[in-house]
Amino acid sequence: MIAVNLCLPRSIRIKLNTRCQYNCRFCHQEGDAKTSEIKTDELLKALKLLKKGLGFYRLHFTGGEPTLYKEFAALLTNTKKLGFINALTTNGQFTSFLRIKLVSCEYDYNHTHTARV
Ligand code: SF4
Repeated sequence: MIAVNLCLPRSIRIKLNTRCQYNCRFCHQEGDAKTSEIKTDELLKALKLLKKGLGFYRLHFTGGEPTLYKEFAALLTNTKKLGFINALTTNGQFTSFLRIKLVSCEYDYNHTHTARV
C-alpha cells in the first residue's frame, strides 16, 4: 500500500469587490475588474462548507479595497465566530467604525499596500 500525503491548502484568498477610492496605475485589481460582489450570506455558507469539509482555517480578503464591501464588519464578525483567522490587504482608508472593529481583534493581521495620495 502506498501512503499518500495530501498537502491541501488551508488558506483562501477572497476578492470581495473591485471598488476602491483610488485609481492607482499599478493596480491589478486581483484579476477581472468587472467582478460583482458576492452576498455575505452566500459567502458564509460556502466558507462553512470549506472549513468543515476541507479544513480551511485562514481567510485573506482582497479587492479592490475589501473594507468597502458593504457588509465587511459583519463578515469579519461571522468568520471569526466560525473560527477563521482573518487577514486583509487594504489601502488603510477606512472609517473609524471599521477601525475600532479591526482593533477589537476581529481580524488577525493585515497587509497595507501603498495607495496613491
Ligand atoms: S489603493 Fe490598492 S486597490 Fe485601490 S486602486 Fe490603488 S492599488 Fe488598487
